[in-house]
Parts: sequence; C-alpha cells; structure tokens
Amino acid sequence: MGYDFTGGRSFDFPIDFSMGLTTVQRYCAACDERGDRLAQNATKNETAENLDLEILENNIIVKKYIIDKWQNIWKCCPRGHFYRTIEPKVSFCIKYEDKNRKKKATITRLRLGKCCINEYLAMMEIVDSDKCSICNSAVKTVEHFLLQCPSSDLCRAVLIACKQMKITPTIGNVLADDKIIDVIFRKNTRMI
Ligand SMILES: [Zn+2]
Repeated sequence: MGYDFTGGRSFDFPIDFSMGLTTVQRYCAACDERGDRLAQNATKNETAENLDLEILENNIIVKKYIIDKWQNIWKCCPRGHFYRTIEPKVSFCIKYEDKNRKKKATITRLRLGKCCINEYLAMMEIVDSDKCSICNSAVKTVEHFLLQCPSSDLCRAVLIACKQMKITPTIGNVLADDKIIDVIFRKNTRMI
C-alpha cells in the first residue's frame, strides 16, 4: 500500500501503525542510501561514458570531413584569388577581429581586397584609372598600396616594421600579423 509519509515520498510497504517510529526512520534511511547509490552508479555508468565518447569521435570525424571538403572547394574556387593568399586554409575560426570598429573595418576591407583602392574602384567603374596616384608608375593594388609604392610613407613604415620583426614582406604575412596590422592602421591616412 502506498503512503505519502514525508515530503511527497511514497512507500510501497504496508504501514503498521503499531511499529515504532524508530523502525520507520530506519526504513527511510535505507531508502535514502539506496537512492544515493543508484544516482552515483548512474553518473559512473560505463554505457553513458561510451555513448559520450562515440558522439565525440563522430563529431571529430564529421568536422574533419566538412573541413576537407571545404578546403578542396576553396583551393579550386575560380573566385577569391586575393583572399586566398591571405587565408589559404579554411577553418571555423573568426579570421580577423578587433574591438576598434574602424580598425576592424579597414583591415577586413584590405584583407578582402574590396576597398577604396584604385584597382578595385576602376573595376567597379567608380574611377577612370587604376593607376597609383602617388607614384603614377603602377596599378594601385592592395599589395602596391601596402608594400610596393616607392613614394608612399605607409609602405616605408610597413617595410621597416617587417625588417625589425624579421617578417618576410608578403601581402599574406603583413595582413595576418597583428603587429604589422597595427602599423598599417596607425600610418594609414586615407579612407579604405
Ligand atoms: Zn604607387
């Protein structure tokens, strides 16, 4: 017979009101111990552990499959040549982040190559010429803007920083290194 004795706990044994309180108390204590033991066993249950491990292993396999497939698509993609030189490897990570919104926007635009640089502006038919307006000797690409213009103070600063930090001055390196990115943002004087 069920009997709600204390705190909503049910007992499946006949209550004999003639038995003393100590007997009931002992039964409650035995129930509590059994409950604790069952809870402990459940947390240590090997089947549950195996299941967790299996899910974890499957997640790793699925993630690797996605990354490999994505990497192959990225490698052969007819678009995104410039960005591929900056980020050749695909990943689930955020590629560039900064608390300063202006810096984040400027550097991200340069990294994507979609910015107010004559090569892109001419392609979009916003300006007539794609030439560099500082040296007039070459097409103003992001690479020319950051590394190759012989008359640019920004290029000079970036090349000096690369030399000091022993970084090979390639577009992939300068737009991936935080310290060089700081120099680019500090020395740049125009809207990107
Ligand atoms: Zn130039």
